[in-house]
Amino acid sequence: MELKALLKVHNFSCSKRYGQNFLSDPQLLSAIASDGAQEGDTVLEVGAGAGTLTRALCGLGAHVTAFEIDERLRPVLNESLAGEDVEIIYADVMNYDLSSLELGKYRVVANLPYYITTPVIFRFLYDENLLSLTVMVQKEVADRICAKEGTPEYGALSAQMQAMGNVRITRRVPRGMFFPSPDVDSAVVRLDIAPICSRELLPHYKRAVAAAFAMRRKTLANNLTAAYSITKQKAEELVREVCGNCSARGETLSPACFVRLAELLKEA
Ligand code: SAM
Repeated sequence: MELKALLKVHNFSCSKRYGQNFLSDPQLLSAIASDGAQEGDTVLEVGAGAGTLTRALCGLGAHVTAFEIDERLRPVLNESLAGEDVEIIYADVMNYDLSSLELGKYRVVANLPYYITTPVIFRFLYDENLLSLTVMVQKEVADRICAKEGTPEYGALSAQMQAMGNVRITRRVPRGMFFPSPDVDSAVVRLDIAPICSRELLPHYKRAVAAAFAMRRKTLANNLTAAYSITKQKAEELVREVCGNCSARGETLSPACFVRLAELLKEA
């Protein structure tokens, strides 16, 4: 059944609070599913909604487990996913013990609820079993995730995600493709896990990135002096060692340079 008709039959009205902007175009849905997964993959979807993306993922031959916070969608999903081999968990993905799922290696594919975009990404980003994360996000967030150092969009989110692997925008999706239509355009971002930072160094990397972007107008050395127990002279020495310019700003450092900085700060 077509999306609007299905929602109508079940007397379902979308909730803004849960970020319910659904997709219905079959071509777009199978393209997004293929952006993120292939036959035989174990896929975790966040926010099944009316089950349209879930069905496209099942159609690929993926093994899908999907979260959905809104119990009102249970009858809708029972109908739209009838006969599909899929597990729907009616729970808040942010509070669920993911290790209890015993998924093994898995991929996340989701049209995310935008009110929790970044928390959901960070919920999975450092999980050792994650292979890739393919998520629909607000266009501006996608641009920030994929931004290169030295551009205005580059920030803590870019540096943190790019430390964990390769990111790219797989497609841009105009607001008119959703029902109901949101106030923003969107894009699908894919992260393939290939960390450039060791697990052991990760806490130091996160701390260095957070410090570097704490005050964007300050030099990196000034931000480091404020966040660590080191003198300005020491901070300038470290920054010079990492990028050759002691008055550089955080946004000019590539993720690889942040790895080097984290190593030096760990020893400082
Ligand atoms: N996958 C569907 C699609 O593409 O049409 C729905 C996507 S819609 C943007 C996001 C979905 O996430 C909604 O169905 C919403 O109820 C659900 N959701 C919101 N917060 C959630 C949470 N904390 N845990 C699980 N699901 C959530």
